[in-house]
Amino acid sequence: MKVLVVDDSIAMRKILEKVLKGIESIDEVELAEDGKIAVEKITAGAFDLVLMDWNMPNMTGIEALRAVRGAGNKTPIVMVTTEAEKTRIIDAIKSGANNYIIKPFTPDVITEKIQATLDSLKAKTA
Ligand SMILES: [Mg+2]
Repeated sequence: MKVLVVDDSIAMRKILEKVLKGIESIDEVELAEDGKIAVEKITAGAFDLVLMDWNMPNMTGIEALRAVRGAGNKTPIVMVTTEAEKTRIIDAIKSGANNYIIKPFTPDVITEKIQATLDSLKAKTA
């Protein structure tokens, strides 16, 4: 499985990369530092999952999510955000996000959310 991590914080990218590489089913992790690069990568490449930060320069995570979905791309996207407000989460889900993770998180939470997202996708296609 190939995963894309999108976050403007290099520390956060490194943390997420490390956690993801510890998950057995994930064999490739790519990194992007803003929404614009993320949209290019997602629409060009074959990712099985995207972890998308919300607040980023150039293009925010929600803008990137909308651009990807607007292009008809159905790559599973999990929003990673410090914004715990329900309105924002509902906004993201309405815009086509598959799941969300609230920062700060533990590695266990990441693993759980990824597994839950993949399971729900499997259930949909079964
Ligand atoms: Mg950020």
